[in-house]
Amino acid sequence: MDFGLIGERLGHSYSPEIHRRLRGYAYQLCPMAPTELPAFFARRDFRGINVTIPYKQAVIPWCDALSETARRVGAVNTIVHRADDSLYGDNTDPAGFAFLLREAGIGLAGKRVLILGNGGASLTVQLVAADLGAKSATVADFNLDVNYSNLYERCPGAQVIVNATPVGMYPLGEDCPVEPERFPRLEAVADLIYNPLRTRFLQKAERLGLKTADGLSMLVAQAAASAELFTGAPCGENDITRVLSELRRDLENWVLIGMPGCGKTTVGRFLAQKSGRPFVDLDLEIEKYAGRPGREILVTQGEAAFRALESQVAARFGAKTGQVIATGGGTVLRHENVEALRQNGRLLWIKRAARFLATSGRPLSVDLESLERARQSFYEAAADMQIAHDEDWEMLFMKAWEVFRHEN
Ligand code: NAP
Repeated sequence: MDFGLIGERLGHSYSPEIHRRLRGYAYQLCPMAPTELPAFFARRDFRGINVTIPYKQAVIPWCDALSETARRVGAVNTIVHRADDSLYGDNTDPAGFAFLLREAGIGLAGKRVLILGNGGASLTVQLVAADLGAKSATVADFNLDVNYSNLYERCPGAQVIVNATPVGMYPLGEDCPVEPERFPRLEAVADLIYNPLRTRFLQKAERLGLKTADGLSMLVAQAAASAELFTGAPCGENDITRVLSELRRDLENWVLIGMPGCGKTTVGRFLAQKSGRPFVDLDLEIEKYAGRPGREILVTQGEAAFRALESQVAARFGAKTGQVIATGGGTVLRHENVEALRQNGRLLWIKRAARFLATSGRPLSVDLESLERARQSFYEAAADMQIAHDEDWEMLFMKAWEVFRHEN
């Protein structure tokens, strides 16, 4: 093997794709049990490896030399097999976290920083906070002085919060580590989680108008720093921003919202075909899930039962990536659905005047003008972007395509 990643359980990792896009080399995932480490290092059959949970400290004894950063963090995430057969251990996570802050315009100098979690990633954040001149960096964890039962009282002046716990990570994306609105001086939050792209924690902070940063930029930036160590060739900010925007474009869901009959499904099918993305019609998914037509569910079980099914389906598809999703007209009435769809997606509102809306086969499409008045504010609050449907379908297709291409 030339390059790759070792860890205990690697599951689905973005790293091979990131390294391929950065420098084109193959990158192998090597999950291994702790008992396999001695033989792996005895063979030394690699040019460079990354190291992840739970081996970032365990690999230190096999390194012949450590960088200053690895020594300061007390952990290694990159090992280079040098020409003289020695192993050099470094840690590129601090460079990754520093990039995350720069990209989001979050400064730590003179700020009171609250760090959630006391594991490996927290050590990285603590180091960078000290290097960037934070006024204070308080770590909160279950067994620490500052913990989840007292952190609102103990840290009322927190200006930047960093989530370095797995709380909010797929598949438990609905969890949120703390409530940002309870910190009156809060200016910015960073979440090291990158799946989903927009955790509930980040979404709450966005609604408060705070600066936010997700963990994908750190992931790509630490990989770029490793790629530089592996190959000896510079891999700088231009490479990071290119790969980051490619990844975001590929991962983000394109979500269509709007009144029933406004054209979400037709536009969605067009976008899916043009982009090669899978198309998901949430109304059809509800029918598949329930095993009966939506109309029948509405008539026999009522709207509340239909909406409950809709929330389950929105949660399921919102957690996936790279799709085009057409929602039902009422999907955004529930805030939990908007959060589920926004975790990996951008929401485009197709605005079409009530008199032009299609009504055939739609049991809730009666008195569309009142319905539109009642729902307007929900679409407005949920939408990241909007376009008008003024009866020219070709134009609508092109506008929707441009909006999503431009957004990414
Ligand atoms: P770790 O060493 O296992 O530490 C996790 C920390 O979170 C520990 O302090 C743990 O507390 C705490 N924690 C676990 N479950 C919790 C819960 N339910 N509520 C509150 N606290 C909880 O993991 P790590 O390597 O530091 O990684 C932490 C997070 O950062 C992960 O989500 C990881 O994916 C992310 N990360 C991202 C990047 C990136 O490039 N974006 C890089 C590294 C890590 P206890 O020890 O007390 O259980």
